[in-house]
Amino acid sequence: MPRSFLRAAAFSGFCTLLGCPPSAPPPEKPAVTVPPRADLVLVSGNVETLDPGTPKASAVAIKEGRIAAVGSDDDIKPWIGDQTRVVELHGKTVLPGLVDSHAHLAALGLRRFGVDLVGTRSLEEVRSRVKKAALAAKKGEWIIGRGWDQNDWESFKKKGLKFPSAKDLDDVSPDHPVMLHRIDGHAIWVNTKAMQFVGVDAHTKAKPGGEIVKGKSGKPSGIFIDNAMEIISDKTPAPSKDELKQAILAAQKECLAAGLVQVHDMGIGHPALTVLRELDQAGELKLRVYAFLDGSTEDLGAMLAAGPLIPTDAKSHLTVRGVKLFIDGALGSRGALLLKPYSDDKKSSGLLVTKPEVLQSRVMQATRAGFQVATHAIGDRGNQIVLDAYQKMLSATSSSGRTASILRPRIEHAQVVAPEDIGRFGKVGIIASMQPTHATSDMPWAESRLGKERLKGAYAWHSLLTANATIAAGSDAPVEDVSPVLGLYAAVTRKNLFGEPEGGWTPKQKMTRAEAVRAYTTGGAWASFRETEAGVIKKGYVADLTVLDKDPMTAPEDDLSGLRPQLTIVGGSIELEVKTATVGTSTTARTH
Ligand SMILES: [Zn+2]
Repeated sequence: MPRSFLRAAAFSGFCTLLGCPPSAPPPEKPAVTVPPRADLVLVSGNVETLDPGTPKASAVAIKEGRIAAVGSDDDIKPWIGDQTRVVELHGKTVLPGLVDSHAHLAALGLRRFGVDLVGTRSLEEVRSRVKKAALAAKKGEWIIGRGWDQNDWESFKKKGLKFPSAKDLDDVSPDHPVMLHRIDGHAIWVNTKAMQFVGVDAHTKAKPGGEIVKGKSGKPSGIFIDNAMEIISDKTPAPSKDELKQAILAAQKECLAAGLVQVHDMGIGHPALTVLRELDQAGELKLRVYAFLDGSTEDLGAMLAAGPLIPTDAKSHLTVRGVKLFIDGALGSRGALLLKPYSDDKKSSGLLVTKPEVLQSRVMQATRAGFQVATHAIGDRGNQIVLDAYQKMLSATSSSGRTASILRPRIEHAQVVAPEDIGRFGKVGIIASMQPTHATSDMPWAESRLGKERLKGAYAWHSLLTANATIAAGSDAPVEDVSPVLGLYAAVTRKNLFGEPEGGWTPKQKMTRAEAVRAYTTGGAWASFRETEAGVIKKGYVADLTVLDKDPMTAPEDDLSGLRPQLTIVGGSIELEVKTATVGTSTTARTH
């Protein structure tokens, strides 16, 4: 409302109170209509609104953090005033802000503090990186790393070995304890020094849902899977608060540069929660973070008692209203819980990380405390147990029939689903939170783990979408690269970055381009209860936008992985700006 109008209203009210004489009415002034002006205007773009009413536009006006108008350049012209920043897009594509519905911000940023093993192609490469770190470390210091994947080591696989062992690390780090997280975060590999430090021997037992891999002698080999990981990790130094803060800020920068406006941060503990809250209060959280508390921590009860944190102030970017739970491990380390044994290990059907009755009670506890539940489930039996638990929770919570859309329970990964369970996602209203690049990373070995038949329900995007499920797409970074365009490429092609295999892997399960873009926009909005204000470009919605150099709806398929973010706009504020994107009032590159 214009200030002049408020003043006039106040004056007329004053006059009425004192009783102005009817003979002296205030002189009537002609009504002046001041056209509203935008803070920011994007023009000459290719705007993919995802709003069925107006699917295409060329310009967007943004005012006070929200979309004020969408239309042609001419439609938007009246919004341009003296103070309006105008960005000329030269045909670049504007999408609703891209969302990563499953990532781990702290872990993504913490890679910089440890030995980064992502992308190592051989055991030798890992050994040389560990050796380098050990030589540089202070006396007694732990060497902590992340990102190894034995499935990528050709010569190792040829020998028919399942996992590396402590011995592989002993000679490169004889004096420092070493702990290396597998790429999926579901197994750790240590040296003998670390086992001695912790006091692990042949008598050490893993908790249910965990496995200590044993060598021929019956002694621990140096690999600890799922619930057995804490035997080691509980004894290693946790990152300091400052390291955590630096890690989260570094991860934020990486996400904004990748074109993301929001990340669903999965399974945070109290230390990360404290840092996120402080960053948000200080106005340093530029990325929207939709956080899920770690449902396996001891202080969960206290964190739940505080209730969800849902921002009311537009400046706040932190929401905490979810709890992350686990039912099983990962496929790469054979921890995913299957209905029938692994095709390449008939003695194993995977690991049940949480007993079904414990899962059920945690699901109920979180729901009663007002939190959304998101449970990690990879194997077909894991998925079945979680679907059962959610259905029980939904029928116990209400009989209104709308419960699922109120509570929006999610399954994280939903990676291998039995054919009879696929329909349950859509029918019951359970969100499938899936990571397209997991399919293309796992495709070289997924069939040997699962066999041909079971593969039909693996990474089954098309089947789930056909059965009316909502897919919210993400990266699971740092397990995979955080870039959403790599996810779009994987979703649409089911090929690796070398364009293999020709035609895509199990191509029936590809997403269309529109489905893939929706999984990264409207899917993420629905999964975080924001569909009435985010996910499409529409008047009144928050101004969360991603500008790419080319249109993912029409760019050649092989170009999708190379699409470059040009602008990342969160709540109307430009948080990433690539110089070449603008020939407007500013050409400064800026990232936070
Ligand atoms: Zn994850």
